[in-house]
Amino acid sequence: MRAIEPTLKGDFVGGYFTESDATGDIHQFTVGLAAAFERLGGTICYGQQIERIQSNGATVTLTAKGSADTDTSATTSTYSDVVICAGVAVARWQSNLVIA
Ligand SMILES: Cc1cc2nc3c(=O)[nH]c(=O)nc-3n(C[C@H](O)[C@H](O)[C@H](O)COP(=O)(O)OP(=O)(O)OC[C@H]3O[C@@H](n4cnc5c(N)ncnc54)[C@H](O)[C@@H]3O)c2cc1C
Repeated sequence: MRAIEPTLKGDFVGGYFTESDATGDIHQFTVGLAAAFERLGGTICYGQQIERIQSNGATVTLTAKGSADTDTSATTSTYSDVVICAGVAVARWQSNLVIA
């Protein structure tokens, strides 16, 4: 085990090794992805809670408000396309979207 993973510390009796598996630094990946997105002209709006998504087939309208309890006012913006990465919450919006 130590030959495969020299940074292991402690006493071990045995372990599994799966050749096809790997570990990445998710913080480095997501920070790098955000930097690349902004470098290419994107704007990231942190701390926003999407309240409503509507599509007419040509454009997508998002209504969002700040995620803090004290944020009450919502803003609405229209886009030609959006990428939704809301994990399991995406099921909430599937019915009123035209998905390409
Ligand atoms: C306990 C556990 C351990 C795991 N371990 C591993 C592992 O070791 N390796 C691995 O590869 N995978 C692991 N996974 C799986 C991995 O975490 C998921 O596959 C991955 O996070 C999915 O990414 P995602 O971006 O699709 O969704 P998520 O990470 O779920 O991101 C969705 C985001 O959308 C946001 N969101 C939802 N609704 C709204 C809304 N209305 N407005 C604004 N934002 C919203 C959420 O707050 C969230 O930040 C693990 C999962 C769990 C639960």
